[in-house]
Amino acid sequence: MGDSGEGRVEEEGRKTKMAGSLAGRTFIRSFSRSLGGPWNYVGGQRCEPCLALASMKVTEPATGSTLCEVPVSSQEEVDRAVASAKGVFPSWSKLSGRERGQKLMEACRIIRDNLEDISKLEVQDTGKPIWEARVDIASCADALEYYGGVAAAVVGQHVALPGGSFAMVQREPLGVIGGVGAWNFPMQTCVWKVAPALACGNTFVYKPSQFTPVTAVTLGEILTSAGVPDGVFNVVQGEGETGARLCNHPDVAKLSFTGSVPTGTKVMTAGAKGIKSVTLELGGKSPIVIFEDADVKNAIKATLMANFLSQGQVCSNGTRVFVQRSIADEFIQQLVSATQKLKIGDPLAEDTTVGATIHEDHAKKVLSYITSAKEEGASILCGGERVMLPGKLSGGWYLSPAVVVDCKDNMKVVQEEVFGSLASVLVFDSEEEAVRRANDTNFGLAGAVFTKDIQRGHRVANAIEAGTVWINTYNLYPTEVPFGGYKHSGIGRENGLTVIDFFTQSRTVYVEMGDVDCGPLYQE
Ligand code: NAD
Repeated sequence: MGDSGEGRVEEEGRKTKMAGSLAGRTFIRSFSRSLGGPWNYVGGQRCEPCLALASMKVTEPATGSTLCEVPVSSQEEVDRAVASAKGVFPSWSKLSGRERGQKLMEACRIIRDNLEDISKLEVQDTGKPIWEARVDIASCADALEYYGGVAAAVVGQHVALPGGSFAMVQREPLGVIGGVGAWNFPMQTCVWKVAPALACGNTFVYKPSQFTPVTAVTLGEILTSAGVPDGVFNVVQGEGETGARLCNHPDVAKLSFTGSVPTGTKVMTAGAKGIKSVTLELGGKSPIVIFEDADVKNAIKATLMANFLSQGQVCSNGTRVFVQRSIADEFIQQLVSATQKLKIGDPLAEDTTVGATIHEDHAKKVLSYITSAKEEGASILCGGERVMLPGKLSGGWYLSPAVVVDCKDNMKVVQEEVFGSLASVLVFDSEEEAVRRANDTNFGLAGAVFTKDIQRGHRVANAIEAGTVWINTYNLYPTEVPFGGYKHSGIGRENGLTVIDFFTQSRTVYVEMGDVDCGPLYQE
């Protein structure tokens, strides 16, 4: 049979029949690919806030034009979202882990089926190159798949006690989780919290960054399409005040935050007031230590990954590049050459490797570090300037990736998190010196060592004060391994099995198999 009208009708009829046979599930999975809103997600649907305070204009980084206008959620709206999550908690938490896991697996499948469309939404929201957005969104699917599998394995313990008595240590969810996220990896940040939290039986209210409101709501639609009950995952939009309302809400049991150290301090204070546990994923100023025996080409590739992905707006970036003196000239020359080959362009173009900075104010802040570096005696070997792109892209803030040399440890650019495309190169002589200088920071999110000497690799990795240390690579975060910071870079971990401890609490049930032994308290 050819492609007759009759054939198409028959095909549609088959789809409809199959949709009918999957009661409660949407067979033709759909989510909004448009930027029309509404932007909150409460009770299993996109909705306007019940009371909006004002509207935020969200800028498309690539063009500088308005992407969408998003109403700011009031206390009443936060209350409504938390009530929605609280209302469904008893039934969601009573499902078996396997039942919850199946829904997360289904959400994974929907994301993989729609990876390209979701990645494009993420590009519009963030300005990052499309190839990177694909990696980010694929990692969301990975997290849902992983915790979908782990859900059934979240089990307690049986502890044998004297006289045949025993205790059961049950793993219980915490309740409603309040999540607040940053703008650099909007959907990934959200999923890394939501997937394990839901797997453990919690429900969730999430507030995305005011700069990137789009894909958290998309995630809501995906979870609903996957069969996750209404109210299990909710989104409220707004700025810091909405985040504070969520963090201070008495019915929120735990806070999971990704963002800067100053805001993390406020979130932790809110947690302290409500005796809530807090996971904080904060900033960094991570070191890469490159020894003279390293494979220089690999070290260059890793330095690019550690500094210039997502326009340098990556928490774990290795922005203090320590190079051993004997290879410093060769390394710097190759790094500059590789950096100059990066292609600044339309984030949606396949060959673009450097997209747009999130917004004008942030771009100006990044450029101010170039100015301060020069004032303090550093030299800029390449980049560090605004690049004007033609046509509709002329309103975007595109910065050329910068390599800064002649750096000293006490320079502002070396001390502070720049969160932009700027690599500071520092020269060292000995291993002891490199480790001491690498650790001379309040941050401790990540680090790396490049060497072919296996003993030195492990020795230095063990000496770096950071939550993740890579040996001979950089910025890889498989879902299976924990990620999080030492020192001011955070508290708690995301990813891996460790995170289960952060989204559950234990209840001990003691079972007495004999008579109650109360000593001399009871006399016949
Ligand atoms: P930010 O701290 O300015 O904002 C983060 C979020 O907190 C936003 O959603 C914001 O609206 C909200 N917020 C502001 N005030 C609040 C308050 N009083 N209570 C509750 N929420 C409040 O950070 P940013 O500029 O969005 O993100 C950049 C920072 O995030 C960098 O420091 C970066 O290193 C860090 N980051 C860390 C990780 C990690 O995993 N460690 C990942 C991504 C980003």
